[in-house]
This record gives sequence, C-alpha cells and structure tokens, in this order.
Amino acid sequence: MLKVKRSVIEEIKKQAEAGYPYEICGFLLGEVDYRNNVRTAVEAFQVENQNKERANDRFEIDPKDYLKVEKYADEKGLVITGIYHTHPDHPDRPSQTDLRFAQPDMSYIIMSVKNGKAENWRSWELKGDRFAQEDVEFI
Ligand SMILES: [Zn+2]
Repeated sequence: MLKVKRSVIEEIKKQAEAGYPYEICGFLLGEVDYRNNVRTAVEAFQVENQNKERANDRFEIDPKDYLKVEKYADEKGLVITGIYHTHPDHPDRPSQTDLRFAQPDMSYIIMSVKNGKAENWRSWELKGDRFAQEDVEFI
C-alpha cells in the first residue's frame, strides 16, 4: 500500500494541470517498509517527459534525470518509492505501455486530466505480470 502526504497529491495536481495537454511525470520520494510492503510518498519530484513526439499519451524518463533524482533523494535520506504520470483526457488506468515499463515494488500514481482539470487519480502496483490498484492512505 501507499501512504501519501496530501501536499504530494496537491503538487501533482498542479503539475498535471500546468502540463496539460501533455503528460507530465515524476518520482515519488519517501520510505519503504519491506516487512509489510508499505511505501510512503512525502515528496513529488517532477522530471521532464522526454517523449516529445507523443507527449500527449506517452512518457519517457531520461536516465540522467533518474540519477539526479536518486542523488537528491539520497541527500535527504529518502528513496524512490514510485513514479507518477498523467493521462490527459484518458482514465486513470495503466496503459499497455505503462505495464511494459513497470517495475515491481513501486507505486504508480496515474492522474487523469480532463479538459485541463485534474480529475481522478489512483495508485497501482505490479502484481505478477499485471497492475493492481493499491490502497492509499493519507499521512
Ligand atoms: Zn500511462
């Protein structure tokens, strides 16, 4: 499950609406409790969507950005606990592409943005070879 600060969701909403009609993406930073598989997200770190051609329905993260975020998280004593991205004018459900690039033990927040307004969002985690919606609690 994911425990997330309300401010993180508010931040993602802001980024989602500012980036519309393109997909925005970023990393969730926090802690992981491996004993009960609980991840937390206390910060949202936006990175540039490298996919310019299909930025309305695809996102790609530059490996350099990944390293940058890891360094930043490390300095703050946090770890990467997930990835968030938006679906402009599409539901908050993972696509086939999302599934292809998904990693285990991570939370995937997908936020749906309709006509420039952030609407619904859900968090997903990989269960075997498919995505399952995960429980979310605010902290
Ligand atoms: Zn997606």
